[in-house]
Amino acid sequence: MRIQFLGAAQCTSGSCFLLAFSGRQVLVDCGLFQGPEELKQRNYRDFPFSPAEIDAVILTHAHIDHSGLLPKLTRLGFRGPIYATAVTADLCSIMLADSAHIQEMEVERKNRKLKRRGQPLLTPIYTVADAEKTMQQFRRMAYDEEMEILPSLRVRFRDAGHILGGAIVEIWVEEEGETTKFVFSGDLGNTGQPIVRDPTAITEADVLVIESTYGTRLHEDREQRLELLAEIVNRTRERGGNLLIPAFALGRTQDILYGLRVLQDRGAIPPLSIYIDSPLASKATEVFRRHAQVFDYETRTMIEEKRSPFEGPGVHFTETAEESKRLNEVSGGIVIIAASGMADAGRIKHHLRHNLWRKEAAVLLVGYQAEGTLGRRLQDGAEEVRIHGEPVKVAAEIETISGFSAHADQAGLLSWLRRFSRIGQVFVVHGERESSEGFTELIQKEFAVPVLVPRLDESFVMKGTEAVSTWDARCRSFAVEEDFSGACQVSVKREVKFRGAFGLSERRFKIKNSIFTAFNLGSAREFFARTALFRLAAQGLAVPLTSDQAPEGDWEKELAGLTGEKPWEVVQREVLGPAGMGSSRYFYLDQLPAWAASGYTTGPAGRLVENIYAIPEAASEPQLHASAPDLVRFWHLLAEGEFLPREAVEQLLAPYGDRRLGIYVIEGKAPGAHVLFGGTYEGPLAVAVLSNGEQGALHAFEQLAAWGKAGEDDGGKHRK
Ligand SMILES: [Zn+2]
Ligand SMILES: [Zn+2]
Repeated sequence: MRIQFLGAAQCTSGSCFLLAFSGRQVLVDCGLFQGPEELKQRNYRDFPFSPAEIDAVILTHAHIDHSGLLPKLTRLGFRGPIYATAVTADLCSIMLADSAHIQEMEVERKNRKLKRRGQPLLTPIYTVADAEKTMQQFRRMAYDEEMEILPSLRVRFRDAGHILGGAIVEIWVEEEGETTKFVFSGDLGNTGQPIVRDPTAITEADVLVIESTYGTRLHEDREQRLELLAEIVNRTRERGGNLLIPAFALGRTQDILYGLRVLQDRGAIPPLSIYIDSPLASKATEVFRRHAQVFDYETRTMIEEKRSPFEGPGVHFTETAEESKRLNEVSGGIVIIAASGMADAGRIKHHLRHNLWRKEAAVLLVGYQAEGTLGRRLQDGAEEVRIHGEPVKVAAEIETISGFSAHADQAGLLSWLRRFSRIGQVFVVHGERESSEGFTELIQKEFAVPVLVPRLDESFVMKGTEAVSTWDARCRSFAVEEDFSGACQVSVKREVKFRGAFGLSERRFKIKNSIFTAFNLGSAREFFARTALFRLAAQGLAVPLTSDQAPEGDWEKELAGLTGEKPWEVVQREVLGPAGMGSSRYFYLDQLPAWAASGYTTGPAGRLVENIYAIPEAASEPQLHASAPDLVRFWHLLAEGEFLPREAVEQLLAPYGDRRLGIYVIEGKAPGAHVLFGGTYEGPLAVAVLSNGEQGALHAFEQLAAWGKAGEDDGGKHRK
């Protein structure tokens, strides 16, 4: 069974998780990427799976960061069912058509320019027609009912308390007679949110995938935020300005309306003129009205008492662009709620342009403001911003109320987690990296369960509740410490799985390390001296071989005493030559060839100095240098029994088993050198990390060894 994180991993958009089991593939969500350009680019790339081979999609809720790429999936060949709650299906028919319309308009605008320049034209990610086709694939599910949607896959939708129709999904997958229960939190709301019911408490999960948008932050509580809202409304009115509220058309807009209604009922604010300037919000509100049965108790009561937050004398939904423009002429006294929630698109931008420079106006930010958006810049206190290419001074009051967020805050997430009586493995997703990592620490501290923050595209094989990262994805995400300088290679079955070179081999002339650069092996030269002794023993010479026969570090002396030659001459003849280690040789440190790396060590005053100056005596003896491909090659020969008889190999390697990593590791150090290499004995894995500095080699080796081990066990059979 495999789970892959194709979105919302160390970011808050593009939510998409692939479950692969028993030859089937199911997606949970298929969202649009938003925010920084490098994320948005992912909307245009091919899916890393074949859409036609996806058996079904399970959709948590209608927000575009969860549903926005469904029409693309259909466009590229997906014909299966999309399971969602009835409200989510209704909301999607509005949201996806709107999103498709935006895609088409944007491409049309770009194409006008391209046409004039005679350049090739773009096609939209998807069209309104694609969105309509997608809608026919929806299957409406009731809350709380368990249903088998595929042989060996059952699903149940539970209230998520996030937006109307939003769901936590429980998924039971059966493979080889064993059932694994996945729980996807979707976007989770706080308890006591307006309109929606509270999130359902779930008690068991083998694998829990939980959001962490506000993993490190706390919201104001409900009363506090209503008080703040009242203060801002009253202050702005007294100054005679307009109050602008950028809000998601779906969810937030209705929450604000609800809050304003409650405050008006209490007499905390005067009757208001509220303009909802977003056709999408109007349509979404219409869907809300239609699905009153899933409202929480309080909202149902308000509607029964004819105090519906969605209608009333002061609530206006603008439809046409003209109506919207007319609002620009109103200099004060009204409330405008418009999309987008992060103020980086939609009608709110026009209203900001006409109001930001007025010191009597106010802007109230009520939702999450992602990095790089206009909303975030305002929140961060920008004195001037650009809107539609024009600079606009910011004189208006800018306020934030985070309590209106439809997402649970840290306390909300933790209290939802506390209801579990059993969790196997946790994956923390849907948060910016600091937020996900911060939240992970909290979970570890309180619940003592394994927690991972997956990277984008990373995939894990689930063995029971144990998550093993698969080889390919891990290698793509390989990261070295900042000051690591050296080369790395991993091979499985003699096939190179990963190769990388980092930093400089010669600092003065800025020569870069390459995968073929030879590095000083430092104290690992002893291992090669001992290997040479085993070779001699295999030829019938009586030589001391076991650790207790020669004190550690004296194998070169043994070798010299036995043969009457220089030890490096014997190693060259008995090991490096026969093993075909062509770029490995003994060099005096002051006579290095261009393809061998100079070693760097931290000298006085923290400056990096070449090791030749740090260890004068080192120049008196040649040092063994080798490249990463040579060490990997050597390991394969050794492990496969081609270089020495098997008993000899066992004896040779006995002192080097590393229990923690589950492989054999030979480590060599010297000033300005740190080398680790090894692998599995009789197994197919070989790993080498060589460094001409003193930082980061172990970190790199540990990652590669662990992933190599997982990749070896995985045997590649889970990949397509
Ligand atoms: Zn959401
Ligand atoms: Zn989301």
